[in-house]
Amino acid sequence: MPPPKSRQGSRSCLKNSSETVTKKILHLVFTLLAFAGRVQSADLDGAKISLHAYQGPAVVSARSLEKFKLQVSVDPKGETKPLAIRIELPNSGPNTWPSADVEVLDTSGRGLLVQRTGIEWFKMLIPLPEGITTCIVQALEPSDGWPKPTPEKERVIQDRASGVQMRIAKWHDGRAAALSIRFDDSHPTQLTKAVPILREHGFRGTFMINPGASEPGSRRTSDYEQHRSEWEALAKQGDHEFANHSAHHRGGFGDAGMEAEIGEAARAIWNLTPGRSKLTALNLGGGTRWDTTHTLRYYLDKYHHFDASENSTGMDDSYGNRVENFRRILDQHLQRGLWCRIHYHYIGDGLSSSEANFRAALDIVEQARDKLWIAGMADIHKYQTERNASKLTLLKSDERSLTFKLTCTVNTTLYDQPLTIEMTHAASWDQQKVKIRNAQGTVIPARKIHVDDTGTLRFDAPCRDADYFIELGS
Ligand SMILES: [Zn+2]
Repeated sequence: MPPPKSRQGSRSCLKNSSETVTKKILHLVFTLLAFAGRVQSADLDGAKISLHAYQGPAVVSARSLEKFKLQVSVDPKGETKPLAIRIELPNSGPNTWPSADVEVLDTSGRGLLVQRTGIEWFKMLIPLPEGITTCIVQALEPSDGWPKPTPEKERVIQDRASGVQMRIAKWHDGRAAALSIRFDDSHPTQLTKAVPILREHGFRGTFMINPGASEPGSRRTSDYEQHRSEWEALAKQGDHEFANHSAHHRGGFGDAGMEAEIGEAARAIWNLTPGRSKLTALNLGGGTRWDTTHTLRYYLDKYHHFDASENSTGMDDSYGNRVENFRRILDQHLQRGLWCRIHYHYIGDGLSSSEANFRAALDIVEQARDKLWIAGMADIHKYQTERNASKLTLLKSDERSLTFKLTCTVNTTLYDQPLTIEMTHAASWDQQKVKIRNAQGTVIPARKIHVDDTGTLRFDAPCRDADYFIELGS
């Protein structure tokens, strides 16, 4: 399971010339050292490159071709044994690679099989096929381009004529931060312990299940299969979310094997939640191995997933001092307005998390519940993505009314989490008389809140292009 990590996805495409010169010098140094036979590794813009488990004459060298594109070459120097290149791409800091978009090609453009572990997609092992000594490691730009959030100022309206200020709230209902509580591996104690205890609080959990059918030749019956009807009943109640943890939690070998493991679990979840958005979280599982020529993005796009393999804090008791650690990280996330993710395995005495510790963590959540949006991982991912793709535009206004447009560029079949719009109006406006209508004239219910003695209203709007009309009635 992954330790908590922070990942700043800096994807600046600017390259200054001194950086380029430094890079060339570094490359030269590494190549010289490599040719001198002293090192079998290279480090390029934070990417660590070496020969895997190797002692011998062969050397590896690398050079940067452009942003997110490396050429890696091996000089066998007489070595006849098969060689494998190990590459660790930077996954934090300014040089962070978008590892879900990375593929490895030979010089004729054919995809090479890359081995990775389920939750560390930035670490790659590339076994070199016979006759191949050079490969290209590159991030493939998604078909709809690299994610580019709308600037914060485009999500705000400040209008003098009406005295109205509006913004798209950072999180649903204007909460300060978001919290997802995840449960991995479809263990039966999640049905008997986690669900009832979550329900005592009214909190939503995300259940990362392994719903694969028993496999021929395997004597292992899955936890999920033994409790299939209970999982189905849980899905029917609809108060929790399901996510893909692969069909069998055993990895997948080759493109077809990986696709089968992801696809089977995705379809099982869609069958559990008919009529719902197909968008769910994917986490391929700690300790699993996956071999594929494709990018992870290929599978994410095909099965309507988003990558949920990083940035989560493990709550297993074996990590030590979990409850106090959680209190601290939740507080940090509240202060910074961020999405706090935690995950559990088995709940119960003598299991990965004791019931007492699980309850103690939920009591901490309870104390902060007014400030927190406690939701499923897909709910939170949707809100975040939608907000990043939205803007508000003032169409017209006077001192008693205002018309604005919400613009939202997402696939509305998948992204169905309403956005919260927060509006502060002039002190002279009587809040009881404010009416918000959509283009069809339907009145949108608004929640009244008080922030620093100003009149503030919140209302929810689906993430799609629409005009809204706000008026101070008489
Ligand atoms: Zn797992």
